[in-house]
Amino acid sequence: MTITNTHLGPAELLSTVPTGLFIGGQWRPAEDGATFAVHNPATGGVIADVSDAGIADAQDAVDAAAAAQTDWAATSPRQRADILRRAYDLLLERADDLALIMTSEMGKPLAEAKAEVNYAAEFFRWFSEEAPRIDGSYGQTPDGNTRVLVMRRPVGPCLLITPWNFPMAMGTRKIGPAIAAGCTMVFKPAPQTPLSSLALAALLTEAGLPDGVLNVIPTTRAEQIIEPIMTGGVLRKMSFTGSTEVGRILLAQAARTVMRTSMELGGNAPFIVFDDADLDTAVDAAFAAKMRNMGEACTAANRIFAQRSVAEQFTSRLADRMAGLIVGDGTEDGVQVGPLIDQPSLNKVSRLVEDALSKGARIVAQGQVPDTGGYFYPPTVLTDIAADSELLHTEIFGPVAAVRTFDTEAEVLTAANDTDWGLVGYVVTNDLNRALRVSEALEVGMVGLNTGIVSNPAAPFGGVKQSGLGREGGRVGIDEFLEYRYLAIPSG
Ligand code: NAP
Repeated sequence: MTITNTHLGPAELLSTVPTGLFIGGQWRPAEDGATFAVHNPATGGVIADVSDAGIADAQDAVDAAAAAQTDWAATSPRQRADILRRAYDLLLERADDLALIMTSEMGKPLAEAKAEVNYAAEFFRWFSEEAPRIDGSYGQTPDGNTRVLVMRRPVGPCLLITPWNFPMAMGTRKIGPAIAAGCTMVFKPAPQTPLSSLALAALLTEAGLPDGVLNVIPTTRAEQIIEPIMTGGVLRKMSFTGSTEVGRILLAQAARTVMRTSMELGGNAPFIVFDDADLDTAVDAAFAAKMRNMGEACTAANRIFAQRSVAEQFTSRLADRMAGLIVGDGTEDGVQVGPLIDQPSLNKVSRLVEDALSKGARIVAQGQVPDTGGYFYPPTVLTDIAADSELLHTEIFGPVAAVRTFDTEAEVLTAANDTDWGLVGYVVTNDLNRALRVSEALEVGMVGLNTGIVSNPAAPFGGVKQSGLGREGGRVGIDEFLEYRYLAIPSG
């Protein structure tokens, strides 16, 4: 089954997306026949029914991945690179259709969905270039008695678990390096957005990926079906993107079989505007860091700090930008902000804003939302936020900019680091020494300096503290899927 570059309307296009489980190269229903509904967050309407994997299906997927592992590891780096490169080409060729599928299940405006398809494809291109560069080393022990030959081997069958907010890129960021390294996979996408992952599986098959290398098991029964396969002893690696809360549960399960893990978890990013900043740059960067993906990003600017002398001007310019945004169904022309993913997310954002207001916060600007039954929240800018407001201590995950004022560099660094998370921080300044000093002092894995976007396949993405373990992308991204093996050879 393949996705064609049809330019059909949403309903017809969605009817072409496979909705079964993908195991051992076959599309099939769940063993118990269960399915679940996928909703369009702009309307609340059902757009597809997808097979709902149970325990037996998950075990079948593990068996298929295990059966394919030896042959897959024996393929040449160039063979694996060529599959990734073909998949990259196909993703770009079909970007319009894939973007429409993504918008229909996730809500982001079509332009952002298309940007995500391109971003997702770039992981395949990047790792197609990394596959032929897997290398080792040759040396000698200091006494000269032994040769040391170091090789790199695929970790083995992997479990990949992704969230709904970037339905395609979070998948390719794991699948790309796993293919390049020669690992087979069981992939569990989020139940809100399985269609992008199923379309991706169809496209990878078309690109030549052998049966059993990638197995996709959408499910609403994650808690029930993942633990048995995590602890079953066959899977050798788990790569997770999602909340810190779920990450902790999976780390505990991984401990039982000493499984390798990569963890891309939540964030609480500080965004700092110093008084020497170029304000055009500051507003552009803050807007990008806040509004990408309707604020539903781990990298979202969660706490914005503006130095006192520029705070009012910066806030009013950001407020003008936010209040004028067009909110609506992301498939419609001109829409700049889509709905949140579901009712619980809408409830959470509303509750966080109410909590801040009850503690003295002030709304500087608020946009409009359509009355179409979707999960829309208006873009909002808040100031005068009390330190104990909950939105400073949890991910807002919505289009709400929380701006606080500070006086000194030392004060803002203490506030910025006062969190258990450490994914990314943003700094806007024209002072090079300050930029470097603050970047060194922030407890984060990534810093956006005079920019609101850090995500790039060529860079090592990841966090410190409770934002995760390991890195995705960059030169180190493939390392997460490789083991070292060393041969001791007596010198003869
Ligand atoms: P989530 O609730 O942690 O879910 C993530 C994935 O884990 C989903 O597929 C989910 O499926 C699954 N899951 C939940 N409980 C599980 C369990 N007990 N066993 C196995 N799988 C389980 O996160 P989300 O709401 O989808 O996504 C938002 C979070 O992801 C935010 O915290 C965000 O910061 C983070 N995120 C981080 C990055 C990064 O690179 N650091 C990137 C994007 C998002 P179910 O929904 O069926 O439970």
